[in-house]
Amino acid sequence: MNREIHPKEGLIVKLTKANPEPLILAGKPWRLGPKWPGRRCLAKTRSGGQCQCPAMKGKARCRIHGGLSTGPRTKDGKEKSRQAVFKHGHYTKEAIENRQRIVREIAELEAWARAQGFNLDL
Ligand SMILES: [Zn+2]
Repeated sequence: MNREIHPKEGLIVKLTKANPEPLILAGKPWRLGPKWPGRRCLAKTRSGGQCQCPAMKGKARCRIHGGLSTGPRTKDGKEKSRQAVFKHGHYTKEAIENRQRIVREIAELEAWARAQGFNLDL
């Protein structure tokens, strides 16, 4: 144990990673225990639980789960990243506009048919 006797302050216990004794003496069994108020990593672990590590400053993940990543930087890298999340194109700008155009055309045709005297409410 890393202890020194200080002439005025008495027993000094140095707080190191390998020496949690000062925390235990202060009633805190570990530094990042369940009541720790900071932000935790949002990563899901392989066992289904949530990562218990503290998130990195300004980020939502710990250093193990991508907190160290700077993300794509180059134009090529950003494009590659964009392509990687593309699944089927159902929500692309073109696909959405195309569906809206079809709905609009059907409404126009129905209005025209009603004006011509067709009964569409069968
Ligand atoms: Zn994590």
